[in-house]
Amino acid sequence: MRAATDVHLHFNPVRGEGYCVFERFHRAGGTGFVSPVLTLESYGIKGYDREAFERAFRLHLEGVRFGRTEYPLRGYASLGWHPAEVARLAERDPDRVMKVAETVCDLIERFHAEYEEVVAVGEVGHPHFPVPDGVERLCHRVFLRFLELAKDLDLAVIYHGPEASREHYARLREWLNEAGFDAERFVRHRASPDVETAREVGVWPSVPASRRGVREAAESGEEFLLESDYLDDPDRPNAALPVRAVPRAARLLRLVDEDLVQRVMVENPERVFGVEFEPV
Ligand SMILES: [Zn+2]
Repeated sequence: MRAATDVHLHFNPVRGEGYCVFERFHRAGGTGFVSPVLTLESYGIKGYDREAFERAFRLHLEGVRFGRTEYPLRGYASLGWHPAEVARLAERDPDRVMKVAETVCDLIERFHAEYEEVVAVGEVGHPHFPVPDGVERLCHRVFLRFLELAKDLDLAVIYHGPEASREHYARLREWLNEAGFDAERFVRHRASPDVETAREVGVWPSVPASRRGVREAAESGEEFLLESDYLDDPDRPNAALPVRAVPRAARLLRLVDEDLVQRVMVENPERVFGVEFEPV
């Protein structure tokens, strides 16, 4: 069976199609996925207390478990605190931010012990829109805390941040060095298809699997991952790529080079996340 691993596939059991996403992904030819938890707001959960995150994480993990139990899928989860929400709280109530971050870290540790599906911390990082300096600094502190946690728990990191440029990658490299975090376990979400720029600093580019993106990425090497970033949000149907994007990409890659499919869909994600992606 031909592998098709989407390393950034969302589903929303509250506001979207939820569990149906797994069936559609499987029917399109998908064989494996990593699903990062959505923002609390996406689930209609208010506030940032312990119970709020606990509900969101449980909801997410039970969904991922359903996906991998009901379908022949290598399904994994990622837990974090989305930087857009960190920024929102930092603007409203800066004194609370690090306390909330500690609660989130504590919960990730607990759920990681309970659910073998957890393979990464994410999405975490920096807001992709301009924010005041103080907010940016707080977001950065939270990001560093998550790096530390991922290192302690031996988990990968899925990073969300501003548009990727050469300078951006250089800065990422510096932060990873300072934190002593292995760049090989660091995934840049929504990376540009010039995969060499990311690999030069050692991090893994997760390239949106548009036809063009896939073709460009394949031209600049074989060290990349593919994602749809499918959002499962009926209000924003075109915010990212469709569920079938990565299975379609697998067919495209096969035309370029049969071995490339195995590299991108199985070997690369196995290297980064440390779990199996060979189709079930
Ligand atoms: Zn996402």
